[in-house]
Amino acid sequence: MKKYALFSILLFALTACVSASKSTTQLQEWAPVRINGQLQVKGRFMCNEKGDTISLRGVSFGWHNLWPRFYNAETVKWLKNEWKCSVLRAAMGAYNGVEDGYLVNPEFALKTVEKVIKASIEEDIYVIIDWHAHEFYPDLAKEFFGSMARKYGKHPHVIYEIFNEPTHDHFWPEIKAYAEEVIAEIRKYDPDNIIVVGTPSWDQHVDIAAQDPIKGYHNIMYSLHYYAASPMHQEPLRARAQKAIDLGLPLFVTESSGCEHTGNGKLDIPEWTKWVKFLEANRISWVSWSISNKNETCSMILPRGSYEGDWDTDVIKPTGIQTREYIRFYNTTDRNYENLR
Ligand code: MG
Repeated sequence: MKKYALFSILLFALTACVSASKSTTQLQEWAPVRINGQLQVKGRFMCNEKGDTISLRGVSFGWHNLWPRFYNAETVKWLKNEWKCSVLRAAMGAYNGVEDGYLVNPEFALKTVEKVIKASIEEDIYVIIDWHAHEFYPDLAKEFFGSMARKYGKHPHVIYEIFNEPTHDHFWPEIKAYAEEVIAEIRKYDPDNIIVVGTPSWDQHVDIAAQDPIKGYHNIMYSLHYYAASPMHQEPLRARAQKAIDLGLPLFVTESSGCEHTGNGKLDIPEWTKWVKFLEANRISWVSWSISNKNETCSMILPRGSYEGDWDTDVIKPTGIQTREYIRFYNTTDRNYENLR
């Protein structure tokens, strides 16, 4: 009996050690998809597989056709491990106004964007497949998203964003009709991954979408974009966001920055922080624009910075430094938004 008792004690001690070391590893490991699994939308909230409300925070790559060199596994790895992003956004340029995009060079577009999708799945991070357009191309969009859903719909990592920014020329009824067509195509192959729908006037009229949301589909969210240094993007835009929240619309900020709406001009950190606190208080996921090295305020990396991550602070521009600080702060603390300076 004694022998068995001793064996049991040893076995228990061994098991306890294994589970202690396992839980330490889990704490240290940044594994957003392993922790949260298949996302779902409940009411106006993004939830994880268990049904707990969560927020994703991360960055968007710039247009794939303008900054293709950042689209690689090393940059994805760096943004996950060093910046602590839980989501990345691959911006598939599908617009005639910017050269060499999906409309004229689909092979290169797919090859480039899929590098980020595959690396994100490999790295256990969520990834938004963004149709970066300012015009409707319903047939092309259906073909593209149908193929993405067939290929990647089984992975919980993937989120579809089917029309980056409708402009002031696009009204909600036509955006909604376009969205219903593309959603139906995605849902033929992928019944559950989240689909983000654009809203009128560069994703600023979420209040209009909130009055007439899409019905008949689960796991649909609506995009809101802000650029905090422009006065029209401050209280007036937050008031529209609040209206949409009050009407129960699930929002996702798939683009944002602290500069002006042009992507340039001054950086207004107090106004930016006000926005981030508003989003955190309302449990809204957000993404900052963009990983690129253009000579403009919202572009996060200097031209001498590497295309493959590994960025010291001195090659990250002020917008990138502030973005990294917000992401690290919220993704590594427990919603401690009151303490953000
Ligand atoms: Mg799926």
